[in-house]
Amino acid sequence: MVENIVEKNESKLAGLEHKKIIYSFLGAPGSGKGTLADQCVDKLGFIMLSTGNLCRDHIKAGTDLGKKLQEFTSKGVLVPDDIITSMVKGWLDEHIREGKTIILDGFPRTEAQALQLQELIKNNYPDYQFNVVEFKIPESEVVERMAGRLMCSNKECKAIYNVKQFPGVKEPRCLKCSSPLIKREDDREEVIRDRMRVYAQTSKDLVDFYNKNGIKLQELNVSGKEPAQVFDMFKELIQ
Ligand code: AMP
Repeated sequence: MVENIVEKNESKLAGLEHKKIIYSFLGAPGSGKGTLADQCVDKLGFIMLSTGNLCRDHIKAGTDLGKKLQEFTSKGVLVPDDIITSMVKGWLDEHIREGKTIILDGFPRTEAQALQLQELIKNNYPDYQFNVVEFKIPESEVVERMAGRLMCSNKECKAIYNVKQFPGVKEPRCLKCSSPLIKREDDREEVIRDRMRVYAQTSKDLVDFYNKNGIKLQELNVSGKEPAQVFDMFKELIQ
């Protein structure tokens, strides 16, 4: 009996990577979107795009686009919609043929971006279904998490950690690839506050847009949860 249930769950999960779904992760900065997306890539074979990481890659490469992006990201304000959506389109055009389940971490962030994405899916990727997963967590908890957040400096890895995982370690290194861990430029207290303000403003309009357009939000209550628990909850949610 137990064996049957396990087999059933595994076969359901085994099929997940073949479903043509685009999940948008909607949640405050520091709510754990990136950490869950990483687990989905590692364990479920999904592919993901973090628009924040894409911005940071351009900034690091010092391209003209990178210089423009930095004007916004360093202040914690949003990059203009057209720039972000065209970056996302470029990535989707390149990756969609893999036919895998896709996670968009941190996109759409505004009503205009949501509208642009709906058009893109309708016209360019019609066999993909769009789902939104909303991360629920109190603001005080995310501010505390972000203050201690560390990120792997290796561009190919970018795993996310918290200082609490490395008590007494002066120069913590990534547990996956051993590269040094760094603090994000915009994880400073004054910028964190601006990012939270921007999120509160824009997410409300976005949720209204989804409600008006009959796009259901799947809620994940991540308050006080460890990454492994969030991953289990997500698997339950999407089955
Ligand atoms: P994140 O890593 O998702 O917290 O994003 C870091 C920064 O990148 C944000 O504060 C914005 O400046 C920029 N950014 C990322 N995604 C978007 C988006 N969908 N729209 C506008 N700006 C974005």
